[in-house]
Amino acid sequence: MGIAENITSLRKAIPQNVEIIAVSKTRPVTDLLTAYNAGQRAFGENKVQEIIQKQPLMPDDVEWHMIGHLQSNKIKYIISRIHLIHSVDSLKLLVDINREAAKINRIVDCLLQIHIASEESKFGLSFDEASSLLNSDEYKKASHIRIRGLMGMATFTDDEIQVRQEFDQLASFFKVIREKWFTTNTMFSELSMGMSGDYKLAIDAGSTMVRIGTSIFGERNYNL
Ligand SMILES: *Cc1c(COP(=O)(O)O)cnc(C)c1O
Repeated sequence: MGIAENITSLRKAIPQNVEIIAVSKTRPVTDLLTAYNAGQRAFGENKVQEIIQKQPLMPDDVEWHMIGHLQSNKIKYIISRIHLIHSVDSLKLLVDINREAAKINRIVDCLLQIHIASEESKFGLSFDEASSLLNSDEYKKASHIRIRGLMGMATFTDDEIQVRQEFDQLASFFKVIREKWFTTNTMFSELSMGMSGDYKLAIDAGSTMVRIGTSIFGERNYNL
């Protein structure tokens, strides 16, 4: 199947209130344009360099989502055009994003990335680290960022029970955080979880945003 057909069938399979982020890392702009012409507007990239290269070649109404680890020294390259940063994994990064956003007088939407997988290698905050971030004075003073929700990646495994448990954990933590820190702020509303292999489980657990690459564009070839 082609990219356009993949998008159409995903839209049918996914509830209306769940947003699809087309993960276009490693893909050529021609593939992104095919997706755009099929109605896709939200694109996810995990490298600053790829956003910088592709953004000028794509229509202006594309929403760029940063889903990969972000280094502080690269924030300045994407700060004016990023729609949502899914991968805030430290207080320092949040403070640095805030500083760059203040320079251009923009309020930038962010998600806190939470570590839910059993693998060591995946980035993200523990529940405790996220709580102390939200309690910190630095966060309270950060007027140019807005925390819109949480992001998480489950363990890469065929064990559906484990994946389900990890998504459930993130969903309950989301509720705890909302009740404790965002009672008067309805902007805390997004739960970014689910990829090609596990988005159905993620949606069952309450995901509001799924990040899908392979099921839209096909297998990635990192050697290209
Ligand atoms: C690559 C990537 C995805 C998409 O993965 P697929 O399995 O191709 O759908 C989702 N989220 C993040 C953070 C990624 O890096």
